[in-house]
Amino acid sequence: MRPLLVPFFISHQGCPHRCVFCNQVRVAGPEGALPTRTQLLHRIDEYRMGAPARRLEVAFYGGTFTALPRRDQEALLLPLQPLLAGGILQSVRISTRPDAIDPDTARFLKAHGVATVELGVQSLDSGVLLLSGRGHGSAEVEISVATLKEAGIEVGIQLMPGLPNDTPETSLATLRQALALQPAFLRIYPTLVIDGTELARRYREGSYQPMTLTQAVTLCKEMLVLAGQAGIPVVRFGLQPTSELDSPGVVLAGPYHPAFGQLVESELCFDRMCALLEDVPAGSVVTFGAPAGRVSDLVGQRRGNLQRLAARYGVTATVREDAALSPDLISLQWGELTRHACLFESYPRH
Ligand code: SF4
Repeated sequence: MRPLLVPFFISHQGCPHRCVFCNQVRVAGPEGALPTRTQLLHRIDEYRMGAPARRLEVAFYGGTFTALPRRDQEALLLPLQPLLAGGILQSVRISTRPDAIDPDTARFLKAHGVATVELGVQSLDSGVLLLSGRGHGSAEVEISVATLKEAGIEVGIQLMPGLPNDTPETSLATLRQALALQPAFLRIYPTLVIDGTELARRYREGSYQPMTLTQAVTLCKEMLVLAGQAGIPVVRFGLQPTSELDSPGVVLAGPYHPAFGQLVESELCFDRMCALLEDVPAGSVVTFGAPAGRVSDLVGQRRGNLQRLAARYGVTATVREDAALSPDLISLQWGELTRHACLFESYPRH
């Protein structure tokens, strides 16, 4: 069983930068002092009482953990050591920038129970990185991934398609480079225009245009296929909705949707369902098989996929879970005929 996450958001703490898209206060909540030892232990205790059978994982998100002064990093990690030793905490994860990792830092993290580092990579295209004000290039990403792995730390990579100067082609090239680094997982956050950022200023003056929701879903399903082919999970698409993000005037533009990830998964399933129906005559009654946990992806939000299949092919379709299917397969049953489609089959590119 996966450990239960105990999240702490340390907005902008430790971050020496202002990337053009970033307003951590709006995305993750107000900036404040780092949590004290008492606050840390109290929150962990609350989670422990809420789920006594689960092991816990503390996650420090936001900010740039490893750019904090070392004494602050110690103040956050040292109170966790007895809980790690006692098995109450399984592990600790942090997020940081690629250029805030060096061998000494990686050893320090490992020695203090940090099992996973999520790197905000965003892009591996030098032009995109430059126009996004990241302050580093792609070489730092490769070095930091290698450094963390060498220290025995799992690496997750966060990507942001749709940054200034980015195109579907550069996003996919970035993804291929990221996959070649063999991270343990990916998070993909299509770029949003958040109030109070440089990107918002550029958007208002007309020099930056974000992806539409449809463009972002189309690109992300292709990214999902490539990641699936490489066997690397995408653990999240799109920012987690928060009351702050959902407040009027915060997301000015861009492909924001509270269930963005499910849109991507559903669109991918829809494409594969269409391929399976190619020669099935109108009026047919068909049943799709979904691997465990995927029924809602095939059905679509508000049964949208089934309605679109009815409109396009004239079929009446239902979906049932088939636990025997591997996670990358769906099936079609039409009369005596059963056929399968692989979710991670490549899309043709023009
Ligand atoms: S490095 Fe991260 S926290 Fe800092 S400004 Fe950029 S995106 Fe925001």
